[in-house]
Amino acid sequence: MQTIYGDLRIIDSHVHFFSATFFTAFVQQRGRGLPVHDRQALLETLGWEIPPEDPVALAARWVAEMDRYGIDRMVLLTSLVGDEASVATAVQAFPERFIGYIRVDPHQPDMPDRVEYALGTLGLRGIKGFPAMECFHAYDEIVYPLYELAAAYQVPVLWHFGLLQSAIGAHLKLPSQADARYSNPMDLQKAARDFPTVPFIIPHFGAGYFGETLLAAAHCPNIFIDTSSANGWIRYLPYPLDLQGVFARTLQAVGPERIIFGTDSSWFPRGFRADVLETQLQILAALQVPREAVELIMGGNMARILRLE
Ligand SMILES: [Zn+2]
Repeated sequence: MQTIYGDLRIIDSHVHFFSATFFTAFVQQRGRGLPVHDRQALLETLGWEIPPEDPVALAARWVAEMDRYGIDRMVLLTSLVGDEASVATAVQAFPERFIGYIRVDPHQPDMPDRVEYALGTLGLRGIKGFPAMECFHAYDEIVYPLYELAAAYQVPVLWHFGLLQSAIGAHLKLPSQADARYSNPMDLQKAARDFPTVPFIIPHFGAGYFGETLLAAAHCPNIFIDTSSANGWIRYLPYPLDLQGVFARTLQAVGPERIIFGTDSSWFPRGFRADVLETQLQILAALQVPREAVELIMGGNMARILRLE
């Protein structure tokens, strides 16, 4: 796309695929804790569109967004454990535009088989999880079979650490169901040490655990940091720092080769978060980051991690 840096290849490394199945399950899971009790009412309360039942139709909406803003590819994250078939259907319909990750719960005994099927047969190319939701530490032995698969299939692993709220929970101001004992990104150091060929991604600069994220990355060259979302966690820091400062510190600590752009786009009608892209490009320009480094952050690093042509 055309930017202040000229024409850039942009890969959004962090987009949530909120399928119709996802919302149905969300309403069932959160049950009485919700202000409304069916999917349609929930989406009306949120002001979000009801996604089409067919994942291909939802995928086509994201492709239209990519075309509108000149985005090369998007990584689609499965947002519900068990819903990887929706993402796989989207990826299979538009293989040149999407990369899909499966969401895992390492406690489920059939998880390694499901991950193997997702990576080997469905064509997904990454593993995503939320340790504080599914209550596991990144270093737990039950997670290791999944790392073995990531190593065998040469795919990245993304764990959400830090702030506990999901997008919907935050919108509705619901108390979080997550367990903060599992949210520290330093948990990742042992796994990243044990699987040096697997790229590990910490999203949102650690979502509150900024120092721990830089520290984990300092120990392990295979830890990458994603820039996605509006990074509202910054307001909880006990010292003054803005997003430009966060970028400056991250560039100093780990260099541009380990920073990957993402938006956290997730629902319609909002669609692609062009505001997040614009803000981050402006910050990179204000920091006088050279074009070659910006190319890496905006897409080059992801292309390398995912072995895209
Ligand atoms: Zn996200």
